[in-house]
Amino acid sequence: MCGIVAYAGIKKCKNILIEGLKRLEYRGYDSAGIAIMVKKPGTEGGPGGFYVSVIKEAGKIKVMEEEAKSLKEDGTLGIGHTRWATHGEPVRENAHPHTDCTGKIAVVHNGIIENFTRLKRELSGEGHRFKSDTDTEVLPHLLEKYYEGDLLVAMQKLIKDIRGSGAIVAISADNPDEIIGARIASPLVAGISKEGNFLASDMPAVLEHTKNFMVIYDYETVRVTPNSVDIYDSEGRPVKREPFHANWNISSAEKSGYEDFMLKEIFEQPFGIKETMRGRLTGGYLHFDELNLSEEKIKKLKRIQIIAAGTSYHAALTGKLLIERWAKIPVEVDFSSEYRYRDPIVEENCLFIAITQSGETIDTLAAIREARSKDAKVVSITNVVGSTISRESDSVIYTHAGPEIGVCATKTFTSQIIVLYLMAVYFAKIRKKINVEKYKTILEELSNIPDKVQIILDQSGAIKKIADRTYRYSCFLFLGRIFGLPTALEGALKLKEVSYIHAEGYPAGEMKHGPIALTDSRTVVVGIAPRDPVYEKILSNIQEVKARKATIFTIASEGDGSIEEYSDYVFHVPGTLKELYGILTIIPLQLYSYYIAKNLSRDVDQPRNLAKSVTVE
Ligand code: GLU
Repeated sequence: MCGIVAYAGIKKCKNILIEGLKRLEYRGYDSAGIAIMVKKPGTEGGPGGFYVSVIKEAGKIKVMEEEAKSLKEDGTLGIGHTRWATHGEPVRENAHPHTDCTGKIAVVHNGIIENFTRLKRELSGEGHRFKSDTDTEVLPHLLEKYYEGDLLVAMQKLIKDIRGSGAIVAISADNPDEIIGARIASPLVAGISKEGNFLASDMPAVLEHTKNFMVIYDYETVRVTPNSVDIYDSEGRPVKREPFHANWNISSAEKSGYEDFMLKEIFEQPFGIKETMRGRLTGGYLHFDELNLSEEKIKKLKRIQIIAAGTSYHAALTGKLLIERWAKIPVEVDFSSEYRYRDPIVEENCLFIAITQSGETIDTLAAIREARSKDAKVVSITNVVGSTISRESDSVIYTHAGPEIGVCATKTFTSQIIVLYLMAVYFAKIRKKINVEKYKTILEELSNIPDKVQIILDQSGAIKKIADRTYRYSCFLFLGRIFGLPTALEGALKLKEVSYIHAEGYPAGEMKHGPIALTDSRTVVVGIAPRDPVYEKILSNIQEVKARKATIFTIASEGDGSIEEYSDYVFHVPGTLKELYGILTIIPLQLYSYYIAKNLSRDVDQPRNLAKSVTVE
């Protein structure tokens, strides 16, 4: 994730790069750096007359900027990067640009190189020296290996070697007039202007210099010079592409044209889910080395204790259902804030899982400390590399959803669920609780999830219509059972957070033990009713509230025509395995909360009284 900006032109580039990086700050970052092509003193430039100067620092762009200002060096061609760590802590050595052994080639990269461990081993065996813990550093060394005078050709060879995602941008002191870029599933655009050309992850980085852009597509490479932008397809053949004119201002461009970060992040979920599965689900098998748990230990597990807060707590509930059902390990889920004070019992062979988007949630951190003081082994699931919790755990599983700017969690929730799904299948397979056929079916279906999420997002207009008709109601009850319960709880939480309307998530069977008294014609009941083993039961619960004049909105499975009879509004999600519906049914509810809140003119990105990461008790 995060930002790349590169410039080749007639102006000095240091400030252009730094200002461009600042424009990408909204994407979140932990370090920043630039590499500039500098003419060697006393030469006329040309081949052999340049060197690459790299300035990078951990922390705010300002820190790197101060360092850059203190150096006189500047040039008219350079690359810049804001890093949001996926591999290796956010420290200076891991910041980009990374260089090859000669220091002549510098590379910035956004994304993940899945097969970097093997590549690093091979390159080290061939004598390449590595200085960082990142996946990215294999790239300059691969370019060094393939370079025979043309950096573009080396890049075209490189992209055939790597698996993963990335926008890659490189320069070489031996080709001082050009920048080479490549894209594999991470955004990259070229900006064109009379005074030079750009590459960037996103248009806002360079909008103040140009509004003329070309999108670079997957597996394409690009050569950018001060007066040309040439794109090549995956076979190295030139591609003709007309530039388009972007009418966006900076603020809409930061959100890729979406009105709010929340909406943008909801729509990023197919990508976030894919990124989180990347490298873990490959070739029909699961790989979970990061868990750091031997098969022996997994077989011996007697219990799992999950702790989390807020949205992560709802992901934990889904994890419990799946781990118990597939891996047959009893799972307890607790709120971090409760766990830390209840003098918990930590038994032998109990695995402790902590889930937190930010990796900084104070209650979760305290709960981890409590558990570790009693010798628990802690695996944390977080979206932020190098966060406090990741450092205080025995092992860390990163969700790769990318930075989440909107205060309410959306894409990090679905990525957490994916990690828990994967863990549950992984444990089940090792403990021999599911057969090979079931294992394959689950994994195959998991790889279909991003497309199914996309199908739901493509129907956002239908959800908006339902929100437009129901946003004036004053009480919302979200009902679900078993796999639908975490969705009901999370759906209610989303609505509360962004619309400030009173909403409750409830196990549908519990309604008659109290909450049904709330139901009248001012109530909307959202029923989570996919075709799963409790479908008939939830249908009865829906009829009970319908009889009390509530307005009914159901989330049903594709092809379920009979539910219409009991519902005022229905949204159908694509069919999937009964255990996996949770990740699909939450998507329409995220959109529903969003559109209700917009109807009420709420600030969805920064709802009142809330903070993105809760670092106070
Ligand atoms: N995987 C790379 C790293 O951890 C790139 C991260 C990014 O996209 O900022 O350095």
